[in-house]
Amino acid sequence: MKISVQKLPEGALKPIESDPKKLGFCKYFTDRMFTMQYSEADNWHNPEIKALGPLNLEPSSIVLHYAQEIFEGMKAFRTSKGEVNLFRPEMNARRFNRSAARLCMPSLPEHDFIDSIEAMIKLEERWIPSSRGAALYIRPFMIATDTILGVRASSNYMYCVILSPVGPYYQEGFNPVSLYVTDEFSRAAFGGMGEAKTGGNYAASLLAGRVAREKGCAQVLWLDPVHRRYIEEVGAMNIFFVFEDRLVTPKLNGSILAGVTRDTILMLAPHLNLKAEEREISIEEVVGGITTGAITEVFGCGTAASISPVGNLKYKDKDYIVNNRKVGKISQTIYDFLLGVQYGEKEDIFKWNKKIEF
Ligand SMILES: *Cc1c(COP(=O)(O)O)cnc(C)c1O
Repeated sequence: MKISVQKLPEGALKPIESDPKKLGFCKYFTDRMFTMQYSEADNWHNPEIKALGPLNLEPSSIVLHYAQEIFEGMKAFRTSKGEVNLFRPEMNARRFNRSAARLCMPSLPEHDFIDSIEAMIKLEERWIPSSRGAALYIRPFMIATDTILGVRASSNYMYCVILSPVGPYYQEGFNPVSLYVTDEFSRAAFGGMGEAKTGGNYAASLLAGRVAREKGCAQVLWLDPVHRRYIEEVGAMNIFFVFEDRLVTPKLNGSILAGVTRDTILMLAPHLNLKAEEREISIEEVVGGITTGAITEVFGCGTAASISPVGNLKYKDKDYIVNNRKVGKISQTIYDFLLGVQYGEKEDIFKWNKKIEF
């Protein structure tokens, strides 16, 4: 892929917020964006890096009406030695193509996906925060751009990559959150798009998220859409339950998003002398296990937060307090291991990091 790079005038570059605590999550975007077009006749073409700015879209573009859209979320980390790493980017490239297949969108060669990100990061290097916990968030996405409002897959697409410096996720410390278990709403149904990283799933989740916040909870814990019984995942994270030295996470069932962080923790478990199980786990088993103390810790996991300890589940208006709302030992150990590898402080024994060569 031969990327055409537009030179930005020196004076056009934005100032960078230098206090990582003020960065927040995806509030600021870097100076440039990557775009590339797809058509049936020309396949992927016209890869470009240019000034970040509004997209030129017709109001009739299919994505605006029928939500034919997919995205990815990943991070570039600056290590303690000043190097820049991506974390398992091939996993995101593959998942992007699985999402594309589900939404009848064209696949993008994995190396083009990774090259587009690397080219952007090399140009935007000054935006990568160097404090531990902060990172450069990477948002690749693809949208359908046909301008005919018939309901069918588009023939034309745009792929785009934007970057945003993000501050440490835990500003006020690594504190457990409360989850609201909804038995009213579903995020995705079996046979639906739950396994795809697509905006429609997020639109479907917003109302439940609002109810959760009204109940004083940070996020929603989703149950399966048929029985409203088996745990699926949290907001934009997968979930793990700790039974002393055993990790249990819901097995992928077609409506759960296969998180890279989830997969990473499953790989890591044996190394930490933990057993890991992917299986169905019901809400009865969870609230029972929390009540008897069989479940010692609960945590969510995803690229944004890495590990998010859970201190409370609210189910049918009853609170189930986990580990006295304290961060558990295993959650802390996994968090320290992941950040240790990502920030280059710990040996990368599983070869998760992909170093960017400048
Ligand atoms: C992105 C996402 C996750 C987490 O995936 P990671 O690859 O670990 O960041 C979990 N659930 C949903 C619904 C997601 O969109």
